[in-house]
Amino acid sequence: AAMVKETIRVYARVKPLGRRQQAGSYAVDNEEPLPSLEITVPRDLADGFINNKRESYKFKFQKIFDQEAKQDVIFDSIAKPVAECVLAGYNGTIFAYGQTGSGKTFTITGGAERYSDRGIIPRTLSYIFDQLQKDSSKVYTTHVSYLEIYNECGYDLLDPRHEASRMEDLPKVTIMEDSDQNIHLKNLSLQQATNEEEALNLLFLGDTNRMIAETPMNQASSRSHCIFTIHISSKEPGSATIRRSKLHLVDLAGSERVAKTGIGGHLLTEAKYINLSLHYLEQVIIALAEKNRSHIPYRNSMMTSVLRDSLGGNCMTTMISTLAMDKRNIDESISTCRFAQRVALIKNEAVLNEEIDPRLMIVQLKKEIQDLKDELALVTGKQRTSELSQEELLQLDELIEAFLKDNDADSSLDVGADMRKIKYCFVHMKQIINHPMTSGKKLLSQDISEEKNSNEEVEKLKGLLQQRDNEINILVTMLKKEKKKAQDALSQLNATSAGSTVLEQSPYMSLEESQSPSRCFSLKDAKDFSSSVPRLPLLSRATGEKMSLGCQEAFEVFKRDHADSITIEDNKQLLKQRFDEAKCLGEKLNEVRNKINHLKGKIIQRQIQRTALAVSNPSEELTFDPVEENLRMQIEEEKKSYKAVYGCFKGLKVEIEHLQLLMEKVKMKLQKDFEVWWSEEAKKFQQEKPEMVTSPNIATVYPQFIRSSQHLSRNSSSDTSRGSLYEDPAVKNNSITLGNPTLKTRTPPSSSTSIPLTGDSQADADILAFIKARQNILQKKGKSCQ
Ligand code: ADP
Ligand code: MG
Repeated sequence: AAMVKETIRVYARVKPLGRRQQAGSYAVDNEEPLPSLEITVPRDLADGFINNKRESYKFKFQKIFDQEAKQDVIFDSIAKPVAECVLAGYNGTIFAYGQTGSGKTFTITGGAERYSDRGIIPRTLSYIFDQLQKDSSKVYTTHVSYLEIYNECGYDLLDPRHEASRMEDLPKVTIMEDSDQNIHLKNLSLQQATNEEEALNLLFLGDTNRMIAETPMNQASSRSHCIFTIHISSKEPGSATIRRSKLHLVDLAGSERVAKTGIGGHLLTEAKYINLSLHYLEQVIIALAEKNRSHIPYRNSMMTSVLRDSLGGNCMTTMISTLAMDKRNIDESISTCRFAQRVALIKNEAVLNEEIDPRLMIVQLKKEIQDLKDELALVTGKQRTSELSQEELLQLDELIEAFLKDNDADSSLDVGADMRKIKYCFVHMKQIINHPMTSGKKLLSQDISEEKNSNEEVEKLKGLLQQRDNEINILVTMLKKEKKKAQDALSQLNATSAGSTVLEQSPYMSLEESQSPSRCFSLKDAKDFSSSVPRLPLLSRATGEKMSLGCQEAFEVFKRDHADSITIEDNKQLLKQRFDEAKCLGEKLNEVRNKINHLKGKIIQRQIQRTALAVSNPSEELTFDPVEENLRMQIEEEKKSYKAVYGCFKGLKVEIEHLQLLMEKVKMKLQKDFEVWWSEEAKKFQQEKPEMVTSPNIATVYPQFIRSSQHLSRNSSSDTSRGSLYEDPAVKNNSITLGNPTLKTRTPPSSSTSIPLTGDSQADADILAFIKARQNILQKKGKSCQ
């Protein structure tokens, strides 16, 4: 198999400094031949007195991306080459290594706010699907999987049962090794993704499942490894060889040391675990770097087992060291760089992954056997005695005819290794040569028809007439269909012309194929569209559950206070803009389509005219028609512009979908933050005023909160579902106004100014907690205003 020798490429990316962070001292030198990053540390710690000498460390990287490097540059220089290898049939791995907060997730998955912030995974998916679409020489199949490893246990982030159950209750992903030492992952689903959109939806689904599993007590993201894998298999049509390759995109757990984070108890065990698995990763990497090392300790941890074929050996591996270069994190950055230097020593051999499809192999072998049998029969002279069938004879006639007509000197007459057929051919050829007029008539009818027979001519014209009749019938039916479709499309357009609009999903079909060219882009309501995006689990979990009135108002306040709501607003504006643009493009596409249809109509008319002419005036030959040719050329032009506009439209569509998913994600995060905050407020309240609370478990922490709010809603008159809280805030402006100390709430029907107690202890406790919390907010607001 083909082989490529490569060291692991190691890059560094420096995260932009936060507003209140003090810059550490470092210098980037990206000059050839070896880019380097130099970090300088003041030596003031050792003996408690300040030493003016500075210590500096120099690290070499493939390339260093400083603070201002944008996501597209990162993709182009780091991920694209790996994606190309994967498309060529090699395995690839990109992993991000660095302390928590240094930008691993930002680099691998992307930021949750802007479209331009999307990271390596979405960009790689987009690139790969683009490339696959361009290559029609092979048949491709793509799948994705998304694995999270937490405390040495594997979880399938794409398991559809996530919605219904907690992560801990799902079947764990386990490693199995077959007799060839290949690794198989049990309980990890491979989801087929036929296009970019489906793959992106799966990514977001996994990210959301990950977010939901995370609670304030369990910030799993910094302690777990996430491996998003794109599996590609390809096959040339007719070939028995399947090429398989996979690309792992790995967001590793935070690399920070336990001592520094200073956490105790349960968390310490977790932290120890993570360091342990990164430690094993390091061990594997060191072992791989050593020459003549026969044993590589892959089995020590789940992560190294999973990445086994993607670290050493058969893989193109790339590591991105993410660095936070502020003063407080310089130590961690240095240890990240040190790790990177060790990784850079490994040499990998990437091997093409080819295997044979047994079914196709059988077909090939069968054919080979038949050929061999034929050959054997030929050599031994033992012929099958049966006569050639009528069909076989006709086939032979055709072959002979084609052979005789072919002017190519290299053409050959291949009838297979069958003596009967070979003999027949010789006999037939002899006849043709000796008696060209009689025996060759059937074979060479075209060539000898120069002697025109008037009878024959009449027959021919009759046939032509019949043919034209049929054509006219077909054309008329086509015209009728077109008319009906145009009417349908028109009424559809009229029915849905109001409001914000979006284009129907994947309306593309190749113009060449389309016999029904009037298929229109129907414009649908935006809400319809977003509901066609698979529902993310948190929202679907929320449907059917009610939030209490108080809770809703608190949520409104919280929402306005929350930084993310600005993002939501921004994105909403952007989305609206994009919708408008998409609408414009859609209209343009329809316009071009109409033009094409019009031109097609003209061609059909022209053909009908000419056919009619030919029928009434048979002596006139149907020849080349320059008018029709001109029309066809115009159509070609229109098709070109159609394709160009469609390209823009498709790009826009991807962006719109991405934005919608981003927004849903931010909204969900907002809701989660609110739930946490709410339950904390409730807890505080309970601690302060225990005598007012009869139920001991009101201060339950998320996710029990959801149950208590459901409980509360039975006593409230509100019908607002949690999902509808996401509606435009402008519509809900009748909620409380901040900064107004005399609170105006939307009052429940039971009371006007008094506290709307329900008589239900748990519900009442929630309400009281809310009021207390609201006062807190107002106090804070008041202070900040003074
Ligand atoms: P990690 O996954 O390593 O814990 P994150 O990717 O979550 O770190 O980054 C922490 C924060 O810093 C996030 O809010 C993220 O958006 C931001 N961030 C990280 N890298 C960048 C970058 N290159 N540009 C802008 N923001 C960044
Ligand atoms: Mg992260």
